[in-house]
Amino acid sequence: MNQYKIETKCIQEGYKPSKGEPRVLPIYQSTTFKYDTSEQMGRLFDLEDSGYFYTRLQNPTNDAVASKIASLEGGVAAMLTSSGQAANFYAVFNICEAGSHMVCSSALYGGTFNLFGTTMKKLGIEATFVDPDAPLEELQKAIKPNTTCVFAETIANPALTVLDIEKFAELAHSNGVPLIIDNTFATPINCRPFEWGADIVTHSTTKYMDGHAACVGGCIVDSGNFDWEANHDKFKGLTEPDESYHGIIYTQKFGKLAYITKATSQLMRDLGSIQSPQNAFLLNIGLETLHLRVPRHCENALKVAKYLESNPKVAWVNYPGLEGSKYYEIAQKYMPNGTCGVISFGLKGDRATAEKFMDHLQLAAIVTHVADARTSVLHPASHTHRQMTEEQLVEAGVQPDLIRLSVGIENAEDIIDDLEQAMAHV
Ligand SMILES: *Cc1c(COP(=O)(O)O)cnc(C)c1O
Repeated sequence: MNQYKIETKCIQEGYKPSKGEPRVLPIYQSTTFKYDTSEQMGRLFDLEDSGYFYTRLQNPTNDAVASKIASLEGGVAAMLTSSGQAANFYAVFNICEAGSHMVCSSALYGGTFNLFGTTMKKLGIEATFVDPDAPLEELQKAIKPNTTCVFAETIANPALTVLDIEKFAELAHSNGVPLIIDNTFATPINCRPFEWGADIVTHSTTKYMDGHAACVGGCIVDSGNFDWEANHDKFKGLTEPDESYHGIIYTQKFGKLAYITKATSQLMRDLGSIQSPQNAFLLNIGLETLHLRVPRHCENALKVAKYLESNPKVAWVNYPGLEGSKYYEIAQKYMPNGTCGVISFGLKGDRATAEKFMDHLQLAAIVTHVADARTSVLHPASHTHRQMTEEQLVEAGVQPDLIRLSVGIENAEDIIDDLEQAMAHV
């Protein structure tokens, strides 16, 4: 592995053309790949040779982009998925089965909460949700004999809690299971969870990685650090023969690549949520400027958070980059260069005040999206959580007045001017 710095990796990692090949990553818009003999093709199906044969399993465009993301995170291998939801499902399902249990931070993206709390329960995989700020002794009580992983988000969407990654890594490792971290909001530019003990990282590449709201996608990266063999009984899918591949044992045959190889050759083969090569191409273009955009998102968000904090019409502001934030110290430890571009805040007044304010915004757009180059805004009580009563909202940790503002990379003064003019109407 070369030792390029992260800015250079954003540009140079992944696709590496040799003499006479296209300078830019080509889109391999082909479902299938040609071989000369029946024997050659047969060896691929037995995992005896590596090579492309069908895009549901692997595609060169996707692989180049996955390899760039693996390098950015400091991992050994990665796999792209069609969405962030698919990435989180596969990351867990690759090592869990009916009868397994997982411990998850309760500060999670709503879609992940539904996936783990409702849908995976139907597959017989049970989740216990824990308060991420609880002390280690308290968290330990959630572990069961059948626990197979611990899951959390670096910076939770939309709660914006910052995870004590080392505490969660200790919880996982002292119980012989891996820590899986959804690093979507921090991105590897601001935080690389493997450096703090995480074993597997997932992303919704839909957010900052693509960064232009152009394509939905996901990614799973493996650090290669977790010792599956040492905890053989919990991870038989990796350490015992896979009958669907003539009895190969992933850990023996693929070593550090066992986890991603199984995810690709077994889960992708059977469940098939591939990212389209077109989307992978667009994602790669986003990744080339990730190191420029993320610092700008953070710089703008801090300016906007400070403006909101000083505005008498604002009841509260939640941004881990603010010195008054409960998470300021921990954010300084894990992401000293910045956290993310998302802020949540409440206006003095009621739900109608929030709606009126938002209706008067001109630059910030009302969209169900975050982490986009364009400033966007959402009022969960009126949108994503609109079926809930006021009491249910409070229980779900979504205050009725909460406005989620995803600060873009426009000029910060223009963003603040827009907020100021909309504020004049409430
Ligand atoms: C958006 C998001 C997801 C889901 O990703 P999709 O690409 O929308 O499927 C998962 N985790 C986090 C933290 C997210 O913000």
